[in-house]
Amino acid sequence: LTTFDEFLTYWGEQRPDGIALEDGERVTTYAEAERLTRQLIAYFHANNIGKGDMVAWLGRNSDRYFLMLYAAARMGAVIAPIGWRLAPPEIAYILSDTGAKLVVAEDAFLASAEEVAATLDPRPRVVRDDIAFAEVANMEPVDYAPPHENDPVLQLYTSGTTGNPKGAQLSNRNLFALRKPSLDEQVPWQIYGPDDCMLAVMPCAHIGGTGVAAIAAANGVRILVMPEFTPGGVLDAIVKGATHMFLVPAALQMVIQHPQASGTDFSNLRYLMYGAAPMPLELLKEAVRTMPQTGFLQVYGMTETCGTVTMLPPEDHVLEGNERMRSAGKAVPGVTIEVRGADNAEVPRGEIGEVCIHSPSNTAGYWNLPEATASTIDPDGWLHTGDAGIMDQDGYVYIQDRIKDMIISGGENVYPAEVENAIFGHPAVAEVAVIGIPSERWGEEVKACVVCKPGAELNAGDLIAYTRERIAPFKCPKSVDIIPEMPRNASGKILRRQLRDPYWEGRD
Ligand code: ATP
Ligand code: MG
Repeated sequence: LTTFDEFLTYWGEQRPDGIALEDGERVTTYAEAERLTRQLIAYFHANNIGKGDMVAWLGRNSDRYFLMLYAAARMGAVIAPIGWRLAPPEIAYILSDTGAKLVVAEDAFLASAEEVAATLDPRPRVVRDDIAFAEVANMEPVDYAPPHENDPVLQLYTSGTTGNPKGAQLSNRNLFALRKPSLDEQVPWQIYGPDDCMLAVMPCAHIGGTGVAAIAAANGVRILVMPEFTPGGVLDAIVKGATHMFLVPAALQMVIQHPQASGTDFSNLRYLMYGAAPMPLELLKEAVRTMPQTGFLQVYGMTETCGTVTMLPPEDHVLEGNERMRSAGKAVPGVTIEVRGADNAEVPRGEIGEVCIHSPSNTAGYWNLPEATASTIDPDGWLHTGDAGIMDQDGYVYIQDRIKDMIISGGENVYPAEVENAIFGHPAVAEVAVIGIPSERWGEEVKACVVCKPGAELNAGDLIAYTRERIAPFKCPKSVDIIPEMPRNASGKILRRQLRDPYWEGRD
């Protein structure tokens, strides 16, 4: 099974009554999903959507979104989910960038979709999701020609952590290239079959929301859709039988620190994948202690690689004496990773450089951005991630941080993630971000921005002293800002640029 078309046909026949999607009261079996997607294709045709045409989804996670994705992927239309948590100008930016002909929106976001649509030429049709699906229910399922496996079917925007989000175009091949053709050959990060239940809880506008669920769907898994993340909702879902899920570190932290967590039986949860941002070691250890029966899998990847390209398996999640627990694991089968220097040659193992990825899951390029595409993907197909990393002798990759976020202080390179990791263990620290600010003496100097735990007192001198016991002096913060709330984007990633910008105003 290598395309959405094939797996829908396959599971529709093999497990017609198996649950494909469960979203609150709405339950869709694989046989129903097979038929519904063909009705959706008829609906797309009726709306003048053909191969290569764009359909946008503006809403939370929904079975309707996933069905639209499956339908688009069967016929070669392109679905572009837009993050509903974005600010109105950001939604306007992405929606107009897609050039969508049709926008399907949840009620709460309908007005903002219509407002943007009114400014566009040609003006897309905007439909409320329940109205669209009522129309779909009346359509006759149609025949269609599946797309070429390399045709884009999903346009996912990068998280916009380092700048404007970019639309990565992903094909059936990209989405399923790293999935093994038979369930018997599944690699550990995909161990799930028809008896498992994947909780789709991270936002579908990001690869951690859509990619993980897409691979699960191809395995005939039951996908339990959670419209939006709440820590209590995740705990409830585990009790109700979710066996697999993907969470970003910020979400995992909220789940294990939720008051309900101590009374929760986590034994249903077989595998927990986490990634998309640096995972503080202390937090990871706390999570492993909270869910001792769960297999932890760290994944590293990006929108452009359809998610996971390296994986740290459960057996490396050992509480004491395992240096590898700090790494993002090894390349998954089918992927080659090289850490390269400024001359684009591989650096010796153990040295730092840019993580570069060769994978059949790599995007062919960004929508409407030929220059960004050319500077990211070289002619040999290597994708330059912009992430600094180190690979050890055994192939384990240690993601240091984004090259753009590196601080150069007194001629030394400081990676904020390492400093954040050291600070995170302090008992008064709830959240921390490390940035470089201008310094007469050092060029840049390290500053920690900290959110305190409720009721805790934090003194800058103490925190700096705490850090000095753990990492080299040049990496330690010279100053500390106590902030009320951490600026994060919809993927839960810290927006360091927002913390940094005020200090650099009027400079380069
Ligand atoms: P933009 O490209 O718009 O600036 P973004 O890079 O955050 O946003 P994504 O594609 O969602 O958009 O995220 C990919 C990035 O997330 C990677 O390049 C890396 O910096 C970070 N990342 C992913 N997984 C991990 C991980 N396991 N550990 C550390 N960082 C990770
Ligand atoms: Mg990126």
